Amino acid sequence: MGLLNLINKDVSSENETRRGMVTLRILYLIQAFAFILDVIFAGSDVLVFFKYRMAASFIFLLLFFLLTYHMKSEPAVVCYIFFTFIWSMEMVPCFGWSGGMQNYFFIILLLSFFTIHGSKGFKFTIAGLVLVARVMMIFCFGGMLPVIEISDLGNRFIQTSNISAVFVSIIAVSYIYSHQENEAESKLMQYNDRLVKEASTDQLTGLYNRRKAKDFLRNVMSAPYIGAVSLAMGDIDFFKKVNDTYGHDAGDEVLKAVASAMREVCGKEAFLTRWGGEEFLLIFAGKNGDETYLEIERLRTYIMNHPIKVKDNTINVTMTYGLAEYDFSGNIENTIKEADKKLYTGKESGRNRVVY
Ligand code: GH3
Ligand code: MG
Ligand code: MG
Repeated sequence: MGLLNLINKDVSSENETRRGMVTLRILYLIQAFAFILDVIFAGSDVLVFFKYRMAASFIFLLLFFLLTYHMKSEPAVVCYIFFTFIWSMEMVPCFGWSGGMQNYFFIILLLSFFTIHGSKGFKFTIAGLVLVARVMMIFCFGGMLPVIEISDLGNRFIQTSNISAVFVSIIAVSYIYSHQENEAESKLMQYNDRLVKEASTDQLTGLYNRRKAKDFLRNVMSAPYIGAVSLAMGDIDFFKKVNDTYGHDAGDEVLKAVASAMREVCGKEAFLTRWGGEEFLLIFAGKNGDETYLEIERLRTYIMNHPIKVKDNTINVTMTYGLAEYDFSGNIENTIKEADKKLYTGKESGRNRVVY
């Protein structure tokens, strides 16, 4: 638990994620662990002979590890690369070429791709430099035997410890980065879905908004054959009075309740939209005017018979509707206008009715 907290501790910089630093801390710990094993397998003579080199290497490892709590990500990665580069070269004479210190270069390669921000060219340049450095190591140290003799078994264990450290480090870096990329991608997709939804729905009622209604109608017009299409424009009667009597917030609650009633009564049959203010456009694709009339009558009586409770008040609401059937003339705007006109007629002739 203590170790996990140590690794997971946040970075000091406010505008950076923890990911880079957590990775580096894990890598330093793996390296330290492998180093201790190497020393154990090589025997204490190596520690005595290379005491300054070993002490300095370990102190620098500790120092760079601690710096991950105070530095920004990119300089910290550069420190790690620099440290590992020197470390690999320093340790070859201690454990021999066959000890496999040069394999730590693979971690440098991976890190430079995942953690350093920069153009593709920059990344490939770094990869090229890592390769050059690695090849140079072959010419400088290739085949070098350890200065202090190490038993054959000890040497095999050292190889095992280093190659395991490199494997685990590569797995850790790959896991952390691929896992977080996936997480970021799915977060982004969710965010995108939310934006699309927000752009097409009315926030207060959750019904579709006017923009989405127009999109839907465009699709209806261009659909090959969907049978009849009818529109009903509904408007709450004397809504201004609701606001004036109970307050604007209560008015909002009424709008929400009316939307719920619409979903309840004809949510399955109609495309429900809040056209604006207290006006709703209900689109019935696949229903003719007569069928739609029955649906809207059902909705009208439902709303009339279900007073809306807002806090301590019970508010009676009625609505008037104008209904029109689309004639497939290619201009559905005219059908909307016709529904609007009929709604107006309904208002003039006493409200709380469906005019068809
Ligand atoms: P009518 O029966 O003729 O439709 O009368 P009305 O009072 O409903 O009509 P009017 O168009 O005069 O008033 C509509 C009111 O709806 C005015 C406006 O303040 C209110 N309104 C529009 N949008 C909202 C909203 O989002 N919330 C609330 N609370 N009121 C709104
Ligand atoms: Mg009204
Ligand atoms: Mg109105």
